[in-house]
Amino acid sequence: MKFGTKAVHAGVKPDPTTGAIMTPIYQTSTYVQESPAKHKGYAYARGANPTRDALQASIAALEGGKFGLCFSSGMGATDAVIRLLSPGDEVITSNDLYGGSYRMFRRIYERFGIKFHFLDLTHSENIIPYVNEKTKLLWLETPTNPLMNIVDIAACVEIAKEHDIRVAVDNTFASPYLQNPLSLGADIVMHSVTKYLGGHSDVIMGALVTNDENLYRELAFILNSCGAVPGPQDCFLVLRGIKTLHLRMERHCANGREIAQYLKQHPKVGKVYWPGFEDHPNHDVARRQMRDFGGMISFTVKDDNQEKAIKLMESVKVFSLAESLGGVESLINHPASMTHASVPREDRIKSGLVDSLIRLSVGIEDIEDLLADLDQAFQKI
Ligand SMILES: *Cc1c(COP(=O)(O)O)cnc(C)c1O
Repeated sequence: MKFGTKAVHAGVKPDPTTGAIMTPIYQTSTYVQESPAKHKGYAYARGANPTRDALQASIAALEGGKFGLCFSSGMGATDAVIRLLSPGDEVITSNDLYGGSYRMFRRIYERFGIKFHFLDLTHSENIIPYVNEKTKLLWLETPTNPLMNIVDIAACVEIAKEHDIRVAVDNTFASPYLQNPLSLGADIVMHSVTKYLGGHSDVIMGALVTNDENLYRELAFILNSCGAVPGPQDCFLVLRGIKTLHLRMERHCANGREIAQYLKQHPKVGKVYWPGFEDHPNHDVARRQMRDFGGMISFTVKDDNQEKAIKLMESVKVFSLAESLGGVESLINHPASMTHASVPREDRIKSGLVDSLIRLSVGIEDIEDLLADLDQAFQKI
């Protein structure tokens, strides 16, 4: 099956009782058993729920994987992967990571004796000097937030496999429509389902997908033992959202392309970060591992003028000033004071995350309205 057909159908079967075409919201905490321990695969809803099962099968299919697991948030899903490790283990990851992942690694798991190396992974060979017998996990994210750096997943996997290191990829920014890390050799794909998969800015959820049955069993054991499960209502909303994922992504990409080009030629704009530009440092890798370039774009205001950047963000009317991304509505965000406020200014500036940097999550509105909105906002600065 092709992607769009999977988005509509995978994991979803008519309800066995009524034939309802949409999977019902099984709003229940427990299931009646015929005799002690004799049941239909459902005993208690932390362990399993049919609405969640349908969603897990759907997300697994979209990633080309056999096994899916859903969590109460993207961070809950990441947490489960780190819980596979033991004190003394080491992790290699990017120095340009989602802020929440960085915070969890540094502030929670370093206390448990796990060591994290934060490296520039846009050059995969940077991994090599940090590998030793304690290295158990390579945690990748691509494209990165907010500078849209691209990591070569297949090249990193090749190095990791030589040393028996597991590879997990945070695929949130790309969505399964644009990129499938399992097909590039990764062991685990993680999603903040909150973003493109849910797509409607109404749910917090996470997911993991793998092809490895033993790994799946370990992760399912962690999910049930530690308990970060999503509720059935949220699973239903995401099942519904996924049915239009391919259509939404086509429009996110088309709008993103137009806005990236508009910004690039704008006299009041400094740099534009979007992997679709031929002069993006890893454009060739993005071309190879992604189907298109997505709707996430960052840019700076000329001369890094923060005052003008803030004025611009206050002046937009169709774009909304908000954190998060991947929903149908266009959002504008100021990483330095919003999503990345916890990163010390010096470190921020060093990595290119300057004071006037603005991040756009381009939605699926009509492009004429989005461009007109940016135009009127630029006229005010
Ligand atoms: C939002 C996000 C997360 C965290 O997901 P939550 O659903 O907010 O817990 C992780 N990684 C990336 C890249 C994200 O954008």
